[in-house]
Amino acid sequence: MNIVELINKKRLGLILSDNEIKYIIDEFMKDNIKDYQMSSLLMAITIKGMTENEIFSLTKHMLESGKTLDMKEIGTLVDKHSTGGVGDKTTLIIAPLVASCGVNVAKMSGKGLGHTGGTIDKLESIPNFKVNLTKDEFLKQVKEIGVAIVSQTNNLVPADKKMYALRDVTGTVESIALIASSIMSKKIASGAKKLVIDVKVGNGALIKNIEDATKLAELMTKIGNKNNIEVVCLLTNMNIPLGNNVGNALEVKEAMEILQNKKENNLKELCIELATQMVSLGLNISYEEAKNKVIENLTNQKAYNKFLELVKKQGGNIEELPESKNKFDIKSPKEGYLNEINALELGKLSMALGAGREKLDDELDYGAGIIIHKNIGDYVKRGDKLMTLYTNKNIKASVMNTPIFSINKIKKEIEPLIYKTIK
Ligand code: URA
Repeated sequence: MNIVELINKKRLGLILSDNEIKYIIDEFMKDNIKDYQMSSLLMAITIKGMTENEIFSLTKHMLESGKTLDMKEIGTLVDKHSTGGVGDKTTLIIAPLVASCGVNVAKMSGKGLGHTGGTIDKLESIPNFKVNLTKDEFLKQVKEIGVAIVSQTNNLVPADKKMYALRDVTGTVESIALIASSIMSKKIASGAKKLVIDVKVGNGALIKNIEDATKLAELMTKIGNKNNIEVVCLLTNMNIPLGNNVGNALEVKEAMEILQNKKENNLKELCIELATQMVSLGLNISYEEAKNKVIENLTNQKAYNKFLELVKKQGGNIEELPESKNKFDIKSPKEGYLNEINALELGKLSMALGAGREKLDDELDYGAGIIIHKNIGDYVKRGDKLMTLYTNKNIKASVMNTPIFSINKIKKEIEPLIYKTIK
C-alpha cells in the first residue's frame, strides 16, 4: 500500500477500505506517514467526506492506537461530552449534580484551544486542583464520592491527539467524519456504556447549522450503538454564549452560583436538561422522575456540597480563585433590546484577554475573561454596563470595541436553547 495512492483515492471521492484505513493509522503512528501527507489526506476527507463504513473503520483503528479503560468495577458509568462552545462550563455543574443523584461520573476532559474553553483549564484555575490522577486514584475516588474529573491521558487514543494537532492548524477541524471519529473513539476508550452528547450549533460552535449537527448526532449515535454504548444527543444553541461568565476562574465562579441555585439563565436550563438525561440513563428511570431528582438536588444544596467535596478531594482551594488585576467596564452606546450576543466574537475577545490559547503550549491567565451583565431580550439604557473585561494585559481600545452586542428598537424573538434530541 502507498499513502500517495490513498490520498489520491480520497481526493477523487473514492471509498477507502477497512485495511487501507488501518494502514493509514498504523503507519502514521509509526511516523512512516509524514505529517504533511496526513494533512493532505485530512483535507481530502474534509472536502469529500466519508461513508458510514469508512467512519466506523476510522473510529475502530483510532481506538486501537491506545489503551481502553475497563470501568466495570465501578458499575454503570454515564459520561457526557460537549462538542465545544463559548462559556460552556456545564461539566463543572453536571458532574457533581449527577453524582449527587446516585449516578457515578468518571470524567476525562481536555484543554481548550481557540475560542472554545476546556474543562481542565477551568479546573486548573482552582489553586492546587490536581487533574492528573493515576488510574487507581481515579477509580478509588469515584467509588468513594461518586465523581472524579481528570485530564485525558496520553495513551487515550494517541492517534486522535496526533491527528487533532494537525487538524487544528490545517483547516480540517470542521469535518463531520473527523469530529465523529475523534469524539467517539475517546468515549469508547474511556469505558462509559451510556453517553449524553451536547452537540453545539451556531456561530460559536464547530458546526454552524442544524442539518450538519443532525448528521453528526446520528452518526455518533450509530457508532455508539455499534460499540454497545447507549447515546443521547441534544442539539443546542451556540449563537449566544452559555451563561454570563467566560474565562476559567470566572466560569468556576458562575458554576458555583448555579449549583447554589442563586442564578437563572440559559446555562442552568441546559444543565438541568443534560443532567436529567444522564440520571434517567444511569438509574433507568423516566425523564420526569430524573428531572425531579435533579431539580431537588440543585435546590437542597446536595449538588453544591458534592462539588465542594470533589474540589477538596482533588486538592483544590476554592477560596483562592484568581482574578486579573485590570478591569474595564463596557457600557451600552444606545438604548433598546439586547437582541444578540455574538458567541464567536466573545470567545475571541476572551482569548485576547488571556483566557484562551492559540497554540497548545500558550500560557493562560486563569483570572482573565468577561462577565456579561445583561441577558438576551433585556431592555438596556444608554450607559448601562454591558460587560466587564478582566485581564493582566495592557489591551488596546480597538480590542474592546469588538462587535459583540446587537441592540435594537424592536425585540427579536428569542431562539430556542435546545433544538432537538436524537437517540
Ligand atoms: N471535540 C473532539 O474531541 N474532537 C473533535 O474533532 C471536535 C471536538
